[in-house]
This record gives sequence, structure tokens and C-alpha cells, in this order.
Amino acid sequence: MIDLNHIHLLITFRCDRECDHCFVWGSPGNKGVMSYESIEYILNQAKELGTIDEVSFEGGEPFLYYPIMLKGVNYADKLGFKVEVVTDGYWGTTTQDAIEWLNPFTSVNDFVLSLSSDLYHSDNWLSEEAKNIVEAALTLGLSINLLAVENPFTKEECPSEYKGVKVSLSKLMYRGRASEKLVDIQRRKDWKELKECPYEDFKKQERVHIDPFGNIHVCQGIVIGNIFREGLSKIISNYDPAKHPIVKDILEGGPKRLIEKYSVPHQNRYADECHLCYEARKLLRIKYPNILCPDPVYGV
Ligand code: SF4
Repeated sequence: MIDLNHIHLLITFRCDRECDHCFVWGSPGNKGVMSYESIEYILNQAKELGTIDEVSFEGGEPFLYYPIMLKGVNYADKLGFKVEVVTDGYWGTTTQDAIEWLNPFTSVNDFVLSLSSDLYHSDNWLSEEAKNIVEAALTLGLSINLLAVENPFTKEECPSEYKGVKVSLSKLMYRGRASEKLVDIQRRKDWKELKECPYEDFKKQERVHIDPFGNIHVCQGIVIGNIFREGLSKIISNYDPAKHPIVKDILEGGPKRLIEKYSVPHQNRYADECHLCYEARKLLRIKYPNILCPDPVYGV
């Protein structure tokens, strides 16, 4: 049994952009969108579970499905969840327009907007749209976070804040599209060194991502069940990381263990643990099609 307190709804794999670092290959042509009916079903299941207090709406780009996302946010609020929406802010044309987009969220009890802006999303760490949205959020009194991902290809420093809003800078992880687009000069680590997952605490899983097809992910592309087929509480009570075919190996010996156990063809050097893990998993999909899925997360 794991103690979930946070679910992330990937309400779509579609995005207005195709960023080089995107874990889930977000793109305008991607398939996969959560209907409102599905959102309500998942939120009811989360409420029934009794341990979850926070729900994030993300993607892809959730603002592409604005009325459905907003209705979902309001329903999550009605059920008593804290709510986060994660966006790239493509819609922040002017501060005044951003106020119009954000105004409906002012009635949500516990709400935060997380806004991604960095050198993958724009020519500058802070895009003009991001600045407009920060100003709009401050005008409305909405909580806002700025999220950025480090960029090894520039010397330009990420600002630490904008108008008093702190910028949280995360490490670049070489999985999803980054495993193809950003690795060339970054292959710094011998594959034998990649003996543990540096990011996910599988023994103390507190959050999962749920995609538009209902797959529940413990890391993007590693699935523990399908909420539409099995229901959330059954999946969570049956899940044992020490018995899951992929998680078990990552716990025992990191991505390196996947290579050794399945004799996966590999190169000598990788950019990081996620790079080796993702490349190994791509090759193991044929063996575990219902666990290493869905297609969009593997760029298919
Ligand atoms: S090492 Fe693998 S399981 Fe861990 S965060 Fe990276 S991709 Fe996910």
C-alpha cells in the first residue's frame, strides 16, 4: 500500500509547442484528451481513497481545453482538494487579457498557478507572456509559481525572481524528447555508474500521474494500472513496488539493472540516469506493453 497525497492529471498530451526537454513529447499533433466525464470520475475516485489532498491539472497544455479544465478545477475545489494548474502561459498576450483568463480561478479556495518559462519555451528565461501572467496574478491576488528547467547550452543565468515571485530552477532530465534532442554533447556518464533513480522515491510513493487514457504512472511511462479498468483504490492497494516488473529492478539497481537483467543493447555513455532508464524502457515495451505505455510518452 502506498500513501498517495497528490495526483497529477495529464488532461492532454496536446500542446501548443514541442519543447526539446518535454517528458511526454507534448505537441500540437498529439492524441489523447481527458473528457470532463473522465475528470469527474477520477476526482471522485481520488476523494474516495481518502488520502489525497492535492490535484494538479497539467499536460501537454491544459489551457488548450480551458472550459473543461476550469470545470474540473471547480469540481476539485468542491471536493475540498488543493488545486494546481501547470501551464506554459501561451495565452498571456497582455496583462489585461491574462486577468480575463485568470479571473475565474479567484473563486477557488486553495489554488496555485504554476507557470513554466525558460529557454525551452522562449528566447528568454522569462517570456513576455510569463511577465504578463505574473502581473495579472499579482493584480488578482492569485498564488503563482515560476518554474524553469536548467539549460546546459547557455551561460545566461536564470533569474531568481520576477516581481517578488521566486523562480524554481529544476535539473534537466534526459527522458522523453530530451533523450533524442538534447543528449549529443551530454553523454558524460558510464552506464555502469547509473545504479539508482535520483528523482522518484518508489518506496514512499506520494504522487502519481494519470493520463488521458486512464493509465496511472509512478514515473512518466511506468504504469501501475488503469483507473478506468480497475479503479484507483484497487490499484493502490494491490501495488507493491518490490513486485512491479520494472520498479522492482530500478529499486534494486537503478536503470543499470534493467540493462543487465534483460541484456538490453546499450551504448557506453549516457547523459544521466533518466536517459539510460528511458532508452532501456523503450526497448522493453514489447515485453511489457501495458506497463511501459502509452505511445505518446515514448514518442510514438
Ligand atoms: S531514473 Fe527512470 S524512474 Fe527514475 S526518474 Fe529517471 S526516468 Fe523515472
